[in-house]
Amino acid sequence: MGTLVASLDELVAVEKAQQVILEEVAPLPAETVALTDAYGRTTAVDLSSDIDVSPFDNSAMDGFAFRAADVADASEESPARLQIVAHIAAGDWYGEEVQPGQCVRIMTGAALPDGVDAVEMIEKVAFTERGLVGDYLVLDHPVETGKNIRYAGEEIKAGTVALSAGTTIGPAAMGLLASTGNTMVPVHRVPTVGILSLGSELVEAGEYPTPGHIRNSNGPALVGCVTRAGATPKLYPTLPDDYEAIKATLAQAIAECDFVISSGGASAGDFDYITDIADDLGTVYFKYVNMRPGKSQTFAVIDNTPFLGLAGNPAAAVCGFEMLVFPALQKMLGRKTLFHPTQQASLGKDTKKKGARENYLRATLARNADGQLVATPYRNQSSALFSTLQTSDCLVIVPGEVNFLPAGAEVTCVHLDITAGTVI
Ligand code: AMP
Ligand code: MG
Repeated sequence: MGTLVASLDELVAVEKAQQVILEEVAPLPAETVALTDAYGRTTAVDLSSDIDVSPFDNSAMDGFAFRAADVADASEESPARLQIVAHIAAGDWYGEEVQPGQCVRIMTGAALPDGVDAVEMIEKVAFTERGLVGDYLVLDHPVETGKNIRYAGEEIKAGTVALSAGTTIGPAAMGLLASTGNTMVPVHRVPTVGILSLGSELVEAGEYPTPGHIRNSNGPALVGCVTRAGATPKLYPTLPDDYEAIKATLAQAIAECDFVISSGGASAGDFDYITDIADDLGTVYFKYVNMRPGKSQTFAVIDNTPFLGLAGNPAAAVCGFEMLVFPALQKMLGRKTLFHPTQQASLGKDTKKKGARENYLRATLARNADGQLVATPYRNQSSALFSTLQTSDCLVIVPGEVNFLPAGAEVTCVHLDITAGTVI
């Protein structure tokens, strides 16, 4: 038994259970992946730029570049006339300095030559002939210094950090890494999560259940949970309630994975063996958590690998995963934000609960006529059902000590389907 609880019969608060598990996991070591494979991964080190981005001052428009001072007095009555001395496309490098009274025709992204300090877009100018080299730009208005110029290093300066360690890489980060020369990216290794499904009543989802049997639905659901968390699932074949069979497969999964979870066989039934097996193989820290659904959850460390035996009822397994395993996986992935985002909402109906456990009610979210967010729990909160979980928008937390909340009360909603760290 771990040092956490005086007795394994103790109901551990959700927050405490989260902390216990988080203490037992660490960010996984780094591996290097190609930038184009780095989406969704989390940087393991600060990544700097090898160059200024952009490396040179350049034009933000297709137009003409000149000295702003040359057009300071330009007007419709007395337009400025500047001789066009070059035609510069993106990718060109014009080595000459542009002199007073001169200008260049320049395209978006092309390097500005020395001497110029303003650009006017082609739609706002006139010119003689075709506006090519040797012709004249005719400008009937002044243009302020710096207009339509993108300066060197505006995105990032050479040698400074483009992405700090612990950043989860999205599309914009991939662009930033590309422009800063980071084509091989050190990221935290992704944890593999072993998933065991325990129960003599279970058949694989691909089978037709014979009398007394049901399909293993938790297994695939937990594959979804693990995938959504950003980790790699490894689903093991369904196991009967057989001590030795479960023990052997759990030991195998512990050896093969970074985190192992199971569902079923976790409570006080005659054939619920997982706590004893975890104790047999490693150190059990707790077996009851103060949440509903999801009271029976056994946490153990076996050969330095964390194991959480989730409850068997589908909603209990998923809620337990999302509250206890999800944060641990975020930490292992090296992410900065560990928990699912929460949001305050107004309760849509009077809500009673029995007992002292913290409830996680499957609920829908909508805006009322005043634009206020309203969370309405489903009437049927049976933990045996996937359908209410499937159509719910969030989990409404009803704290342990509260037994009644009136419609309109402010409640905290947990979002399972919004990226951790998103401001909502
Ligand atoms: P247990 O925790 O083993 O007592 O299981 C509680 C309830 O969850 C029982 O009705 C089980 O049949 C059900 N259950 C357990 N494991 C699964 C599973 N993998 N898929 C669907 N239902 C399950
Ligand atoms: Mg069972």
